[in-house]
Amino acid sequence: MGAATTTRKDGQSSDDHTTMLVRKIPDGSVIDHIAAGKALSVLRLLGNPQENGFTIAMVMNVTSSKMGKKDIVKVEGLEVSQEQVQRLALIAPRASVNIVRSYRVVAKRNAVPPRTLRGILSCTSPTCVSVRERDSAPSIFFLSGRSPLRYRCKYCGTELAEKEIISQLG
Ligand SMILES: [Zn+2]
Repeated sequence: MGAATTTRKDGQSSDDHTTMLVRKIPDGSVIDHIAAGKALSVLRLLGNPQENGFTIAMVMNVTSSKMGKKDIVKVEGLEVSQEQVQRLALIAPRASVNIVRSYRVVAKRNAVPPRTLRGILSCTSPTCVSVRERDSAPSIFFLSGRSPLRYRCKYCGTELAEKEIISQLG
């Protein structure tokens, strides 16, 4: 049973993907519908739980009917908080999080991007006051679109596209 459990820090890839896909975790979180290639960014956003002793299972580049290719991350023993799910929406806007207890899904949390972001994104306009005077004018962005994700700078109105947002955070 435990053989399918992997911590992928060492880049080993000998496990059978199918085994990892079907292996159920007793307690923790299953984060599905992550854009392909973003699993590591998701772990980073969660504070790299693998470095704090949590067991991680990762599946990358799985075929998905909805998304083409996707990544899946399972973290044993860690319940992703609502706040983390919100932040997750920024790098994995279509992610869904299942909270598992005793092998059963007890809650589903969909990633919902926050309406306002303070001090998280950086404006791309070099003349923006938040770029020139970071201390007196911390960055503030308002959600301006969900699919694809877009945020607009409070100060200068510059809009960041999903790709830019993901690259700043991922
Ligand atoms: Zn700006």
